[in-house]
Amino acid sequence: MPDKKFFITAAIPYVNGRPHLGHALEFVQCDAAARFAKLKGFETLLISGSDENGLKIVRAAQVQNLTPRQLADKNTVFFRDLVQKLNIQIDVWRRGSDRKLHWPGTRKLWRLSMEKGDLYKKKYGGFYCVGCEDYYTKKQLQDGKCPEHLTPPEWVEEENYFFKLSRFKSRIEKLIASDEIKIIPRQRKNEIMAFIKSGLVDFSVSRSKDRAKNWGIPVPDDDSQVIYTWYDALNIYQTAAGFGIDDTLWKKWWPADVHVIGKGILRFHAVYWIGMLLSAGLPLPKSISVHGYITVNQQKMGKSLGNVIDPLEVIDKYGSESLRYYLLREIPSHSDGDFSFSRFEQLYNADLANGLGNLIARITRLTENVSFKPADSFPFSTEFEKAMANFAFDEALSLIWNQIRFLDRFINDKKPWTIKNKSELKEILEPAVNKIREIAFYLQPFLPQTAEKIIGLFSGRKIKSAPPLYPRIR
Ligand SMILES: [Zn+2]
Repeated sequence: MPDKKFFITAAIPYVNGRPHLGHALEFVQCDAAARFAKLKGFETLLISGSDENGLKIVRAAQVQNLTPRQLADKNTVFFRDLVQKLNIQIDVWRRGSDRKLHWPGTRKLWRLSMEKGDLYKKKYGGFYCVGCEDYYTKKQLQDGKCPEHLTPPEWVEEENYFFKLSRFKSRIEKLIASDEIKIIPRQRKNEIMAFIKSGLVDFSVSRSKDRAKNWGIPVPDDDSQVIYTWYDALNIYQTAAGFGIDDTLWKKWWPADVHVIGKGILRFHAVYWIGMLLSAGLPLPKSISVHGYITVNQQKMGKSLGNVIDPLEVIDKYGSESLRYYLLREIPSHSDGDFSFSRFEQLYNADLANGLGNLIARITRLTENVSFKPADSFPFSTEFEKAMANFAFDEALSLIWNQIRFLDRFINDKKPWTIKNKSELKEILEPAVNKIREIAFYLQPFLPQTAEKIIGLFSGRKIKSAPPLYPRIR
């Protein structure tokens, strides 16, 4: 095992549709954390993948007259495209339909739990929401509808395999209460503690092959059933790191240091997934960082509302670094946030064009053709380290922008343009240049291309002026 390794996962999106802003937010958060770890000398692994099994995919494919595989292939392309355009340094993208690289690990996990006696078959009836791929009891429904999707569920009765989650209640409760599995933020930890205390019931982990239209991973030794899509999607975290196919690789990386997820799927990660790993006797993830949802113009995003923002379109219009900045700075890292084009342009002009861009332009103008000592190294401040350790990217960026404002004020106060004496001038400009180098160093995890440009501008002994980093939007 390497001394310093950092293994981070983005949630495994369903590929029944195209990516939305929430996916972009999660990828960018993961990328910033991984790039920061790299700067600190960690060997990192950032993974995600696509959840391709399950009824939701089957149904969405039917609507479009495609096979489930064709639909998964088609939509996975959009996700990979988003990852690439957002400049996410992803190491592995594992697909749930990958028979060679994913299926063996999931069947292995199944068998481990079966050997422990934690899987059993039982006849069950419940209200099934295809959107959630989950059963509800009558009490859990809101006016007879799924509380998450607000659509009426269907009554389903069939024989399924169940996982003995109830057996693990006190162990899961202890692990989370003690922060052995740390849930960030605290509010989400409290929420999940209350859920666990209310009692854990066994949950169904397979579906009949007929209802699943033969799409999914067959249950080992029972061809009449396929494995429940959540069960196999969660296990992508492991198979992406080699579980079931490369034991040396898996041992090197597993367990994950952090799962980054949205608030809607905390239960699956903090309870079901932990129970599955406990049953199989496998190491547990160390933390779960939970972000919120993004509204658009203060409204819930939804196909029916026609207000879904395509992150790829935002990138085409404003560039990927501007979107990265908005998502990391404007959307609170651990609670809900809002997206609007008017706020996007406002923030862009204030922070990127005027704040950062203007400062760089000012300093390059003042220092053009003045020679300097090459850069020093810049240790991260304790405050910054703390923000990053808590995955509070908004706080970390706010610390950087404090430095930008500080430097702006410093230049306003010193008025270097009024100074003719060369050594006196150098005494003001040299610390200014060092500060800007430091700011660029800190910016690397968030705005990697911008940081690289600034570092390039100030790397030599002589500074060149350059076109504006962020032209104003009018
Ligand atoms: Zn639902």
